[in-house]
Amino acid sequence: MSSNIRLNKVCQHCQQEFVAKTMLTRYCSHVCNRKAYKQTKREEKLKSAIDNVSVRSITAPPATSWRRLDDKPLLNLKEAAQVLNISPLTLRRWLKEGRVSSNRIGKKHLFKKQDLLP
Ligand SMILES: [Zn+2]
Repeated sequence: MSSNIRLNKVCQHCQQEFVAKTMLTRYCSHVCNRKAYKQTKREEKLKSAIDNVSVRSITAPPATSWRRLDDKPLLNLKEAAQVLNISPLTLRRWLKEGRVSSNRIGKKHLFKKQDLLP
């Protein structure tokens, strides 16, 4: 597209006035265009890096949360000890003493949560 229009514009990179030949020209020279392009790319990269970090920290769940234990009807020994607020070793002793009951599957103890809570 060739035209005879001449526009006085301000370069978006170096802020100097120049005469543009098309409506779309934003930079006074190829040098400014290239520098501005590189800067845009750098900012985009930085922004996406920041986005990635914040997305990760939002979606990453805590290793063990009470919320998750609340949803489970069956608990293993470690989780059951957590629910009772005692150490797994204490829970093993309680099992031996018959203070709590568990369902054994192989070597594993499984506790029904309603059996643990009063
Ligand atoms: Zn310029």
